Amino acid sequence: MPAIANVKPLSRSERNRKPPPRREIPNQGELVRLFQKYDIQAPRYTSYPPATEFSRAFDSSSYADHIVRVTRESPDQEISIYVHLPFCDTLCYFCGCTMVISNNREKIAEYIEYLKREITLTAELLENDPVVVQMHWGGGSPTHLLPHEIEDLGTHIRNTFHFSPEAEVSIEIDPRGLTEDHIRAMRTVGFNRASVGVQDFNDDVQVAVNRVQPRSMTEQVIGWCREAGMSSINLDLIYGLPYQTTETFKNTLDIIREISPDRIAVYNFAHVPWIKPHQNLIQIETLPVASTKLALLELTVQELSHGGYEYLGMDHFAKPEDTLVEAQRTQTLHRNFQGYSTLGGKDLFGFGISAIGRIEQAFAQNVKELPDYYRMIEAERLPIERGYTLNADDQLREHVIMQLMCNLRVEKSEIERLYEIDFDEYFASSLQGLRSLESDGLCKLEPDAITVTDLGRFFLRNIAVQFDAYIAKAAGQKVFSRAV
Ligand code: SF4
Repeated sequence: MPAIANVKPLSRSERNRKPPPRREIPNQGELVRLFQKYDIQAPRYTSYPPATEFSRAFDSSSYADHIVRVTRESPDQEISIYVHLPFCDTLCYFCGCTMVISNNREKIAEYIEYLKREITLTAELLENDPVVVQMHWGGGSPTHLLPHEIEDLGTHIRNTFHFSPEAEVSIEIDPRGLTEDHIRAMRTVGFNRASVGVQDFNDDVQVAVNRVQPRSMTEQVIGWCREAGMSSINLDLIYGLPYQTTETFKNTLDIIREISPDRIAVYNFAHVPWIKPHQNLIQIETLPVASTKLALLELTVQELSHGGYEYLGMDHFAKPEDTLVEAQRTQTLHRNFQGYSTLGGKDLFGFGISAIGRIEQAFAQNVKELPDYYRMIEAERLPIERGYTLNADDQLREHVIMQLMCNLRVEKSEIERLYEIDFDEYFASSLQGLRSLESDGLCKLEPDAITVTDLGRFFLRNIAVQFDAYIAKAAGQKVFSRAV
């Protein structure tokens, strides 16, 4: 057969690329019924056990001893780094982060100096020379640092740790106040991924949450990131904010589709004024009612799916060719404190106030207040407030929960082989609890596996909670946000 002129042959990756599977989205009446039925408070499972189980009995010395022991036994350790930069210019009323509103440049510079000392203090404990394969700066607003401060801190970290040339190095960007000099500083110290906070493009919503950020500003910043060669751009949105309607949010989603980021996170606004009192600045009557929130979620999944994005579950979407989608397809997706990741099982060092680290089977969280942080670093102690060592049951449950949250399937034989248990016997009460979710079409209980259905992606926390040994203790304590 003669070749057809002007038709470029498909590359191997294009030939092998599968079309995104069609997701069944139930009608709204059915979704509303299910959301009402499964409206519980549950952890987001960025860790298991959740941080509410961490204890002050695990302190600086426990963590320092642990780091020395693990690094002595792990000559080829690969690690991730998280750096918490808490400062922001102004307060967004919906904020759920550990942040400090300040424009006092001396105060910010002081924090950076202590942060560098914490990094050095930790590095001095290491008995090996680990390779950094992932680093993320979050906050707060890391871009509230001045360009020279970004370069200074980034250079300190790179002089302290050995980085893989392929390391994924990401930063959260607040477009307000960002300059091209910031982007240049980021590239100088190796940032290759950006996560840009947007939340909503509607003017009324932006004013109501005290975060005015015009579309042109966001697009300019994304343009700079792309020109500078950032290989992946994520945008963050929030649904459930004041004055949001399906009409206004559709407009925001249309703009997002035009911008075409690689990944999109659309978070459910966690209205927790008993934990974050500044959320009382939001007038409660301006918040969308439960049925509108559901309609917003439904609209989001529909619009982004039609726009070519895959719904990974737990608020996250990505283009079909993104590594996160491929990882979920091959059952190798992981979850950590920053959300979904293709890199699992790496020890994580957390630096800065409130940062959480995970080294082998121990979690440790830093103190959350600046004076405590400074005092402990002055005393040359790791600024740990609390931590936790996973026991054998925790490790098993963590594995099952992460499989469900990330890869939407648990193979019983794999768990039985790894943990030497009889799955059905060990998890008899969890399986019993899942039966009602199965009858609502959220999961399938098969003899050799548990699978989350398309509909079940909306209810991942409700499914995971069946395997959580600590949830009964948290009941009625208002420590977690709503599961859906
Ligand atoms: S910029 Fe981010 S961290 Fe800072 S107040 Fe706003 S939402 Fe919170």
